[in-house]
Amino acid sequence: LTSWKHKENKTVIDLGDGVKIGDQSLTVIAGPCAVENEEQIFEIAKIVKAAGAEILRGGAFKPRTSPYSFQGLGEKGLKLLAAAREKTGLKIITELMDVEHLELVNHYTDIIQIGSRNMDNYPLLKAVGKLDKPVMLKRGMAATIKEWLLAAEYIMEAGNQKVILCERGIRTFSQETRNTLDLSSVPLVQQLSHLPVIVDPSHGTGRWQLVKPMSKAALAVGADGIMVEVHPQPDDSVSDGFQSLNPNKFWELMQEIKVLQSTL
Ligand code: PEP
Ligand code: MN
Repeated sequence: LTSWKHKENKTVIDLGDGVKIGDQSLTVIAGPCAVENEEQIFEIAKIVKAAGAEILRGGAFKPRTSPYSFQGLGEKGLKLLAAAREKTGLKIITELMDVEHLELVNHYTDIIQIGSRNMDNYPLLKAVGKLDKPVMLKRGMAATIKEWLLAAEYIMEAGNQKVILCERGIRTFSQETRNTLDLSSVPLVQQLSHLPVIVDPSHGTGRWQLVKPMSKAALAVGADGIMVEVHPQPDDSVSDGFQSLNPNKFWELMQEIKVLQSTL
């Protein structure tokens, strides 16, 4: 179902209000790693909207490496995201980690994110496959392209055709970056599949200094969008501050993308 053999045209995910993923334009998803409090999420939402992003990200259920790290605000975080959507008109995306929270997350969000750690959680993939809601499936950190596409196949086979893929970097021997952002997967997947592909240069590199260049590279290789972590004060962020852009840097990125887009 993911393959071009089964579909003539590229899949376009229509979120309403003119927001479409996969329709030739570059979709920008931006926001904090985690929703921390009302002030933080409202401030970021206003900033990313003004800079031109169309979708706000923010984790309410966080897959943290350590059980002692901040685990997310749960439903309170989902409510804050929905309130930020009301205020700004941005669409929202947030991660679903467990079938247990499926109805809750589905109730609030416009797109369900399946994280890297859950790419091969087949019961979870089948469960979101029964929904009528766009799902963004992140590549497992050790997944081949084939495994990633077969994970998408699980969702589609269960009935949900609204799948977006997200390249977020893979584990390699390289120690200098958190992950190795595999940008070759973008044109490769697009040759194999009609599904849109988003690039996450934040988790893909783990360094805010690399987010701007790798976002531009993603645009150059034909990505359908980017997802970028932005925080009003990255140094005070409860998670992933080291890979989050501050508002000025995000603004710069958006300006540079606009210039680059006009030349492609
Ligand atoms: C995220 O985008 O919030 C996240 C946890 O990323 P990943 O699943 O790619 O590690
Ligand atoms: Mn993060």
